[in-house]
Amino acid sequence: MSSTVLPPPSIGVYVHIPWCRSKCAYCAFVSQPLCHRLDVETDPIIDSVLSSTVELLERRLELLGSPRVTTVYVGGGTPTALGVRRLNWLFGAIRGMMGEADGVEWSVEANPHSLDSETIAVCGRHGVTRISVGVQSFLPRILDSLGREPADNLTEVLDSVKRAQASSRGTDRPMAWSLDLITGVLDMSLLEAIDDAERAVALAPDHISLYDLSVESGTPLARRLGSRAGRRFADRAAEVSAAARRVLIDVGYHRYEVSAFSRPGGECRHNRGYWRMQPFVGVGPSAVSSLPARDGGIVRFTDPPAINDFLGLREPWGAGEAVAASRAAFERAMMGLRTDEGINLAGLPPATIDKWVIEGLARICNGSMVVMTDAGWERLDVCLRELADAWGDAGPQPGAS
Ligand code: SF4
Repeated sequence: MSSTVLPPPSIGVYVHIPWCRSKCAYCAFVSQPLCHRLDVETDPIIDSVLSSTVELLERRLELLGSPRVTTVYVGGGTPTALGVRRLNWLFGAIRGMMGEADGVEWSVEANPHSLDSETIAVCGRHGVTRISVGVQSFLPRILDSLGREPADNLTEVLDSVKRAQASSRGTDRPMAWSLDLITGVLDMSLLEAIDDAERAVALAPDHISLYDLSVESGTPLARRLGSRAGRRFADRAAEVSAAARRVLIDVGYHRYEVSAFSRPGGECRHNRGYWRMQPFVGVGPSAVSSLPARDGGIVRFTDPPAINDFLGLREPWGAGEAVAASRAAFERAMMGLRTDEGINLAGLPPATIDKWVIEGLARICNGSMVVMTDAGWERLDVCLRELADAWGDAGPQPGAS
């Protein structure tokens, strides 16, 4: 399968850290709680996973002809839960692979529980340019509904992040920061959603990710809610989420993707790359790599989600899947419609696009691109289904991208 890959000249890197301090009740990501481990500091499994991660990343980049790394995203899980010693080692190893780091955007996900000034200093020393802090909510009642531990040190943590941002201004590696919020949480009220959003914008992060809660099957939250989990609060959640978004937009955050808002220059280039379906190499339990194929399609490789299977990986890549060119064009269209860049009109079914424009769900930009409006983003699932139905078995026509 790897012989069908067309080595890309540049690439994004994703590193998945499969641990968090504890497990949130709504979480369906591959992450294990460190609180169940006896001695985290000396646990050899953690060191083995990190060594394998670094070795595999090095090998994959080499097999791809050492493309220029444009963005790095260390996520999970909670990378900062690894502690300063391991983060220092991991970041040093990643940095060694980046070559010339100029212009590389490097993001790290952090949880307030495991973020302090020392951890931020490690990030800064290695050239991290974005810290993404998973706050999710400032309100204890909401965190409780989510089954997520409140962080007593939140104010202190966010002050440290803001100090790092301020002191790096004007340097060649300015540090931006992003704040994650979850909205539309079960019985969250409009006032609570607005309160959370207002507290977030008062901190003036460069970027805010505002996600709707999605109740994933198999999670403790889904079990708690029972069979009506997905629908029970759906109507109310849509209103509540819209109110939170309005707060962000009213103070000048630009919504550049369904869930992503930024100040000028604060966009996450790494995530832009995903939405444009640019090549990236992922490494770590459950991480996905997406690479161009020689036939115009895409080849995806997925690392085993179970830690033991990941450690037992003997080949340079995990399970492979070939995505045909027509399917890749379809996926590209689906991703593009999530963003303010939209997708090229060429090859799109005209009746569907006309309908969206007439209903105020989309607009045509520069005569060639179709971009969803806020109203269209609210109904994105329905619109994407309409597009898939209109394309039918024929798939996207040539030119759709
Ligand atoms: S901190 Fe994030 S990745 Fe970790 S358990 Fe909670 S939601 Fe999942």
